Amino acid sequence: MILILIRLLCLKIFMDMPSKTHDSVIDDLMRRSSKRRRLNSVVDLDLKRSKLLVSMRDRRAKSCYPLGLRGLNNLGSTCFMNSVLQALLHAPSFWNYFLSERHGPETCKKRSSDHLCLACDFGVICSAVYSGNRTPYSPAQFLYSWWHHSANLASYEQQDAHEFFISVLDGIHEREGKERNSNKDNGGCQCIAHRVFSGMLRSDVTCTACGFTSTTYDPCVDISLNMDTTNFSSVDVASKSVRPNEDTGRSTLLACLDLFTRPERLGSDQKLYCQNCQERRDSMKQMSIKRLPLVLSLHIKRFEHSSLRRSSRKIDWFLQFPFSLDMTPYLSPSIVRNRFGNRIFGFESDESDISSEFEVFAVVTHSGMLDSGHYVTYLRLQDQWYKCDDAWITEVDERIVRAAQCYMIFYVQKMLYCKANED
Ligand SMILES: [Zn+2]
Ligand SMILES: [Zn+2]
Ligand SMILES: [Zn+2]
Repeated sequence: MILILIRLLCLKIFMDMPSKTHDSVIDDLMRRSSKRRRLNSVVDLDLKRSKLLVSMRDRRAKSCYPLGLRGLNNLGSTCFMNSVLQALLHAPSFWNYFLSERHGPETCKKRSSDHLCLACDFGVICSAVYSGNRTPYSPAQFLYSWWHHSANLASYEQQDAHEFFISVLDGIHEREGKERNSNKDNGGCQCIAHRVFSGMLRSDVTCTACGFTSTTYDPCVDISLNMDTTNFSSVDVASKSVRPNEDTGRSTLLACLDLFTRPERLGSDQKLYCQNCQERRDSMKQMSIKRLPLVLSLHIKRFEHSSLRRSSRKIDWFLQFPFSLDMTPYLSPSIVRNRFGNRIFGFESDESDISSEFEVFAVVTHSGMLDSGHYVTYLRLQDQWYKCDDAWITEVDERIVRAAQCYMIFYVQKMLYCKANED
């Protein structure tokens, strides 16, 4: 009930937005932040009391937490935003850029007439969390800017953290990209969002009649992965919540990546025109990674929306992921070489300077049901895990992280991870 009230309030404030001044909306958001804390304190007094004990015990430890660890206040169902912000605020190369004030309110030429710029506002949060102050911060100005950037998403009650991530990068690209609109696919964009997160996917479609292959390349800022549900009974799949059968064991991230790069027969409704046969043919499609980004974001498709069944479900089973990840098997050279068996041929390898070894540094998790769930982010700093649950930051054991329902997993090039964790 309280949640519903908060959401209605949230919706109402957004509806009221055009008629309100910028400052009054920000004030509203700040008030809601403290109101929510009050509501919470009524609802889970016990929880709070136990947390208080933990927090008192942790107080001394907290002062030596790595710089940059700061809780973010919930402004009314905004855990989707806080969880993604925590990952972005700790993405090596990304936060450093904003902290070095290469984009900030003083120098920004791209602020709109009402002084809105998502990149500037991200820079402001960066300065706030790396200031050394540990009091939870309210990213109200950022939320307000984002509402203006993504008006279509701002009207929903519950937001998808992944959609938020995509739209924030898009918003930063818009304010940062020098060749805006000149390169529609963003493949060569040098803005900070694309420099850090942009990779390139390769798609090979092979005609099953003649073997002719056509190849296309697509830039991406993350990779969305399906969980392998082929071993589930139809009863499981039909139900809202799906768990692996006892005998199929755990699902793993590597299995998701295998599935992603496995050749897939395209359905008869997807027949593609073969240039060689000069007609529509059955074909096989295979994905691979042409170029890896500096920061690799992997999105696990836990939410399924079926227009046919007019239903949505969440796949809430467990997914095992490695802390150190070698992406070599999923790169185009490996995939294509495997497809052609022993017929080894010269492969243009222009990405040799980018290593395929990655280390995990942030995991955005989702717990609960589809429409009433909660996002929490785990950060790995100097080989220690921290739980960022809105305003609360606590040190946690890695077993807690492994047991959570990961939704977005952020890896960074191993070299960068080592460098970032040196001091
Ligand atoms: Zn700006
Ligand atoms: Zn860009
Ligand atoms: Zn053909």
